[in-house]
Amino acid sequence: MPVMKTIIEPFKIKTVEPIRFTSKEEREKILKDAGYNPFLINAEDVIIDLLTDSGTSAMSSEQWSGIMKGDESYAGAKSFFRFESAVKEITGNKYVIPTHQGRAAEKILFSILGGEGKYFISNTFFDTTRANIEFTGAEAVDLLCPEGKKPEVVAPFKGNLDVEKLKAFIEEKGKENIPLVMITITNNSGGGQPVSLENIKQVRKVCDRYGIPLFFDACRFAENAYFIKKREEGYSNKSVREIVKEIFSFADGTTMSAKKDALVNIGGWLSMNDDNLAMQCRNLLIVTEGFPTYGGLAGRDLEAIAQGLEEVLDENYLRYRIRSTEYLGEKLTAAGVPIIEPPGGHAIYIDAKRFLPDIPPEQYPGQSIVCELYLEGGIRSVEIGSVMFGKYDKKTGRLIPAMMELVRLAIPRRVYTQSHIDYVAEVVIETFNKRDKLKGYKITYEAPMLRHFTARFEPVI
Ligand SMILES: *Cc1c(COP(=O)(O)O)cnc(C)c1O
Repeated sequence: MPVMKTIIEPFKIKTVEPIRFTSKEEREKILKDAGYNPFLINAEDVIIDLLTDSGTSAMSSEQWSGIMKGDESYAGAKSFFRFESAVKEITGNKYVIPTHQGRAAEKILFSILGGEGKYFISNTFFDTTRANIEFTGAEAVDLLCPEGKKPEVVAPFKGNLDVEKLKAFIEEKGKENIPLVMITITNNSGGGQPVSLENIKQVRKVCDRYGIPLFFDACRFAENAYFIKKREEGYSNKSVREIVKEIFSFADGTTMSAKKDALVNIGGWLSMNDDNLAMQCRNLLIVTEGFPTYGGLAGRDLEAIAQGLEEVLDENYLRYRIRSTEYLGEKLTAAGVPIIEPPGGHAIYIDAKRFLPDIPPEQYPGQSIVCELYLEGGIRSVEIGSVMFGKYDKKTGRLIPAMMELVRLAIPRRVYTQSHIDYVAEVVIETFNKRDKLKGYKITYEAPMLRHFTARFEPVI
């Protein structure tokens, strides 16, 4: 047997950013002042920030030099053409529209296609995507495969869309009321779980039969492709680049947050093949984002995205990326901490229902864990459960809980080293070992939409 060597970070560190350490007493006050909502804590008061992997990537020296090369011409900048060609290379789509981030692409797309009486279908819509659909009066429908809803079930492609349910839903509501189907790769809200190429092909077949366009929410397309290489039969000898090409060969269009797999701090795009739709999107883009060759971005941002799209397909990078998430997952599982298994690409999702079985959804068990991880170790994480996705029954006013109660530990790309991750594991395990002492929370303030960003809480005594 060959000796398995440690998979090392495939980069050296050139610039460092100091971490400010806080004491537990300081953190108690900071958390209270923030209304027990980590979104309201200042980043300076966080030791390890696992709030999100969005826009938190460390850029490479090549990307930073791209920042200097950025062409800031208003129209037809050189940087736009480099960006456009990088995105076309990946998506194969005819039209590429830059936006300042993913939700801007969603806003444009769904403003045009949405409206009362329309239904959009996904494996699971991300929260901003759902909000942009619902804002138009349309309905966002998640049809996730059954195994994707069971955190404890180990399966290779828990992000798959339920094809049988998809057919039934289209038959029930009528294809004319469904402007598009969107597959989220990887399935962020469902645990960062990948979607198989087999599933993509089957969904495409159904879409073709009814003449419904298929789009991808492509935020983590490279991570999804790497999982296909590792897990799907027939793909182990293909390069990630080839797999990416095959994935997008089934796409009529994409929305993208470049803040994820384009390894940058800001940016996104909307791409498509349909001439008429592209024209409408560009017209709206000019009103809300800017001229079609820069969207809401600077020329330098477009350069950094183009370079990031090269780097993210480096298989040494992807191997390290997926392994470092899995490594944290293994440590937690070994200590008995319940997580979504197998670990997803960009994050570990703690199953708060099994972690705190005695705290009911109305008292937000995920929020309780989030607060404790901050108090215990200065780690910032996020609740993905009834705070984020809970709804109120219009008649009774009672909470309709989310499908799952999760806490996400999102791993920023190329930012933390193995010892940072070891520390995170220690803090989570310590919190798990004293779980009997954790309390529930109640909401004292909330906004009508996307309430998790600004809500304030108090512990239930
Ligand atoms: C982050 C994200 C978005 C939204 O992108 P922003 O750049 O944050 O606006 C949409 N879908 C998924 C799956 C995401 O992870």
